[in-house]
Amino acid sequence: MNNSAFRALSYGVYILSTWDNGRPTGCTVNSVMQITSSPATVAVSVNKNNYTHDCISQSGMFAVSVLHEQSDPSIIGTFGFSSGRDTDKFDKVKYSVKGMMPIVDNAAAYIVCSVEKMLETDTHTVFLGKVTDADVLENKPPMTYAYYHNVVKGKTAKNAPTYIEEKTETGKWVCSVCGYVYDGETPFEQLPDDFRCPVCKQPKSAFVKK
Ligand code: FE
Repeated sequence: MNNSAFRALSYGVYILSTWDNGRPTGCTVNSVMQITSSPATVAVSVNKNNYTHDCISQSGMFAVSVLHEQSDPSIIGTFGFSSGRDTDKFDKVKYSVKGMMPIVDNAAAYIVCSVEKMLETDTHTVFLGKVTDADVLENKPPMTYAYYHNVVKGKTAKNAPTYIEEKTETGKWVCSVCGYVYDGETPFEQLPDDFRCPVCKQPKSAFVKK
């Protein structure tokens, strides 16, 4: 089987959010799809190890903030490369409560759902949600997963349904938290001390040379 075939599938980049006993929490996901239009239903696939997974199971609600091409990449890092178990991720981004759910402000659109059904696989649960609210926030092109990889130079978290192990060229400096590969013109060693990973905002010291 050639796993590269999966790269031919198209995805977006989304912040999946819910409530954890009154505290907003969430994670970065790429596998969201509309299933039906009337009534509007949406499915999302979430790793069972993600804290957000358990919070959605308990609250019975989830929201999807659809990121756009100009959304701050650090939002993806904040929600994708740390756990809501020990971090208040929403403290680090501007958000609003819409349709009773926490929504990231710097996004193209949002969709709020109540959980209708759950389809379990060994590692992931597909939540099927009935849409209870949705709106456009910023009229900008939605960020595709290809854009995230090719333009933002972001990587896939190990928990993602679409994760495929990638080998990094030797000699490159790589963020040990999110996998971002530094590719700038200035040699990495000459970057200022306050340089931070553009995806997850970790300091220069979090980078390792491959
Ligand atoms: Fe990083």
